Amino acid sequence: MFQQTATPSRVEMTSYGEVLDRFADRHTVTVAAGATCAYLGDERNLREFLVADEIARVLRRAGHIVSFLLIDDSLDPLNIRQLRVAVNKDPELIEKFSPWCGKPISQIPDPYNCHESFAEHFEEQLLARLNRLGANPTLVSTAKLYERGRYAPFVRTVLERHDEIVAYLEQTFPAYRPDKLFWPLCPRCRFLDGTRLTGTRNGCAQFSCDRCNSTEEVPFDEVEGKLNWKLDCAVRWVLLGVDIEPFGKSYLEPTAGSFFVAKAIAQRFFGMSKQGVTPFQYGAVGMERQWSMKLIDGLPSEMLRSMMVSRPATDFNISRDQIVSQASRHQVEPDLNYLDFVRQVLPMWLLTPENLSARQRDLVAHGVSFSDTFLNSPARLHLPTRTEVEGEKPEVLRGVHALLARTIELRTEEGKTTREEFEPLIKDSMKVLGALKGPCLHRLRTLVGQQQGLPVARFLLSLPIGYLRTVEFLLELSLRHPHQSLSQGELPTLKKAA
Ligand SMILES: [Zn+2]
Ligand SMILES: [Zn+2]
Repeated sequence: MFQQTATPSRVEMTSYGEVLDRFADRHTVTVAAGATCAYLGDERNLREFLVADEIARVLRRAGHIVSFLLIDDSLDPLNIRQLRVAVNKDPELIEKFSPWCGKPISQIPDPYNCHESFAEHFEEQLLARLNRLGANPTLVSTAKLYERGRYAPFVRTVLERHDEIVAYLEQTFPAYRPDKLFWPLCPRCRFLDGTRLTGTRNGCAQFSCDRCNSTEEVPFDEVEGKLNWKLDCAVRWVLLGVDIEPFGKSYLEPTAGSFFVAKAIAQRFFGMSKQGVTPFQYGAVGMERQWSMKLIDGLPSEMLRSMMVSRPATDFNISRDQIVSQASRHQVEPDLNYLDFVRQVLPMWLLTPENLSARQRDLVAHGVSFSDTFLNSPARLHLPTRTEVEGEKPEVLRGVHALLARTIELRTEEGKTTREEFEPLIKDSMKVLGALKGPCLHRLRTLVGQQQGLPVARFLLSLPIGYLRTVEFLLELSLRHPHQSLSQGELPTLKKAA
């Protein structure tokens, strides 16, 4: 007899290239990820789902037919910690639902009364969130698979060969001591968390329930309940034909990690093929509590997705500096990164929401939140103040005024509203300023709060006309100030000589 080894060499994949190689000769591939929809978590747990989705995308792009299954452990019992998170610490809901803790989440009512069950409420929320991030998995509710009898043959195997499985685990994974292989669902009180299998006899399972102080004897085929998570995982791989699933490092620890225990059980007792399932290792995401849910609000979906999937096996910590630096590298428009967008373009867009496309409105919503959270400054348009004009040479102010007047003329009377039409013409006008061009552009940037980033020709096209007229008027007032002894007639025009 060969001794089964529990310490194989590296089996996990860490890059999308390895995935493509592994499945090169396969037409269809099933990717899976697991969730417990007892509440909607924060951004950290998105990594597993998004990495799974990226694996599916990469395979699809290479021509494979791919199913991406999101498997909800909906027969898991609710615990009080999950309940508190699920209802946002609402004291009334906690009080109302704590008596349900210990029952399967698929058999508890929806705290918000809009779905069939507690599980379905959070399943739909998770799917909606993933959809926004570009992932569209097929949801599999394990409670429904159990209900429909799909697990029954495997449950029967576990009950019939209970002691053999325990002995096998002790020998193969000495570091892993399961408390229970199976959690019966008490037929009297319907709780799952207080039951314990006490024995099997004549095709019946015997168990006790602490919740209602009863003992039960139920034929194997009529027993309700769920397998220990590692065994459950082994069953779903076989049942759903899962080929690849992402796991964090701890699951891939060879001596007691869930992946290896489940795989050994699946092959030895449930008939999984030698090839079986391939694990894909994803790195951990660390995050201070203060950023929880702030990334979802503040980052464009593609940026959040890319943070999670671009280097899938690398651990990273979410901090303000890291987010801001990432924002400075994420392109949202040609030649425009997200950070510059938030600092410079967003305030202009806020003034003219009626002109924005759905995508731009989405970007504005994220940008407003990003500015508040990560830049500590609300997004707003800069209005010139008197001190920004005082002390400046009149010829520079006149040059700025002329540039604004020319911009308004080009964009309104002449209808030059695209970059291709507008930018060459306004650049010609800047040249006409000659030696004053530098000081004029500097003063203009200060006046409209665009000291850095976007080129002048670009923001002159983006700033709302009404706003430019206001700035133009303020300049005019200041140029007419008695001490400056200027009149409107002396303002130059910058029309390019035809
Ligand atoms: Zn609901
Ligand atoms: Zn009971």
